[in-house]
Amino acid sequence: MSNARKYRPATELVHGGTLRSGFGETSEAIFLTQGFVYETAEAAEARFKGEEPGFIYSRYANPTVDMFERRMCALEGAEEARAMSSGMAAVAAALLCSVKAGDHVVAAKALFGSCRYIIETLMPRYGVEATLIDGAKIENWADAVRPNTKVMFLESPTNPTLEIVDIAAVAEVANSVGAKLIVDNVFATPMFQKPLELGAHVVVYSATKHIDGQGRCLGGIVLSDKQWIDEHLHDYFRHTGPSLSPFNAWTLLKGLETLSLRVKQATYSAGRIADFLASHPKIERVIYPGREDHPQADIIKRQMTGGSTLICCDVKGGKKAAYGLENGLKIVRMSNNLGDAKSLITHPATTTHKSLTDEARAELGIDDGTLRISVGLEDTDDLLEDIAEALAKA
Ligand SMILES: *Cc1c(COP(=O)(O)O)cnc(C)c1O
Repeated sequence: MSNARKYRPATELVHGGTLRSGFGETSEAIFLTQGFVYETAEAAEARFKGEEPGFIYSRYANPTVDMFERRMCALEGAEEARAMSSGMAAVAAALLCSVKAGDHVVAAKALFGSCRYIIETLMPRYGVEATLIDGAKIENWADAVRPNTKVMFLESPTNPTLEIVDIAAVAEVANSVGAKLIVDNVFATPMFQKPLELGAHVVVYSATKHIDGQGRCLGGIVLSDKQWIDEHLHDYFRHTGPSLSPFNAWTLLKGLETLSLRVKQATYSAGRIADFLASHPKIERVIYPGREDHPQADIIKRQMTGGSTLICCDVKGGKKAAYGLENGLKIVRMSNNLGDAKSLITHPATTTHKSLTDEARAELGIDDGTLRISVGLEDTDDLLEDIAEALAKA
C-alpha cells in the first residue's frame, strides 16, 4: 500500500492508513500482541526472508502501530515512518542512526532541553562533535560546517520564545555540503508546517503533544523518504527497541482524528489571547507567530500556514509579577506540558530551562518575567477573562 497523500489533511486524519481486520470494525482495532503465528514452516521462512508481507514481532512492527505510521505519512507527505515510545526516543533515533564516531553535527542552540543533552553531552561521548549556533542567523549554519558535518538539527518555532528558523534556507546549506537536515516540528504541528516540502530530509515529532492532544500518553515518530529509513533507521530501530506500545498507538490514532479541529480552535483562541496581552499595560512583550509584529513575520508567511497554539510573553516586574499571574489563574493550569486540551502555563526560567546558566538563558531571550502559555480547548472568552482577572490581581 502506498503511503502517498490522496486527500486533504482533515480527511487523511480520519481515514489514512486504516487496516481493517476480517471483522470489518469501524474504529481501528488495538492489536495487543507481541508476536504473530505462521500457518506453515514455509510461510515463516518466507516472512523472515521478506518474500511475503506480514508481521513478525511487535518490536519491529505491529498492525495498530502501522496504522499510526501510515496515517502520519499521509498527513506529512512522507514515504516512510517509524513510531516510537516518546518524542525523545524519536529524536535520539533520528540523530544517532545518522552519525558515526568522527562525524560532526550543527544544531540551533534554542532546543528542547533533552534534545540539547543528546547533542551537547551524549553524542560527544561517542566521538560525535557538535557546534551549537544561533539558528535564526542563517549565515551561522554555513560558517559552522566542517568537512565531516553529516547532520543539521533544528526546531522552529523554538521553545519557549517562538523564534523562527528559515527551514528552506538551512536545507539549502545542508544540501550544498551533503548533510541531512532533521527538523523537530512539534511546536508548528503537522497542520501548519511541512518541513519535508521545505527541503528537510527528516521530520520528528513528540506525539505526546498536539497529536495525542489530550494529555494521555507519550509517543514519537520519525518520518522521511523510504531510502533514508531503510538505510539508516530500519536496523537501528529493530535492534535498539524504542517501539511504541500498540495501546498508545491506538490512542494517538484517535488523537489524529480530531487534530485539525483542535489545532484550529486552540490557534484561534491563542491569537485572541496574544492580541489581548499585547495591549495590556502589565505585559512587556508578546511573541506570537500569528501576529504581524513577530520579528520574523516574513519567514512565517513563507513557511507556516497558521499561527501557533503557543504564546510567549514577558510580564513587567520579573519573577514576582510572573508568579503573581500564574498563581492568580483559575482555568489555565501550571504545567510544563503543551499541546493539551487544557490550557497550560509555565515559567521557563525556573522549570524547563532552570538548568541553563543565566547567560545561556539570556541568549535564548528567556528572562525572569517570561511565561509560555499553551492554549487549549476551553471557551475563548473564559480564557480571556481568566487571564484578565489574574493580571488585574498580579
Ligand atoms: C516534548 C518535546 C520533545 C520530547 O518529547 P517527549 O514525548 O516528551 O519525549 C522533543 N521536542 C520538543 C520540541 C518537544 O516539545
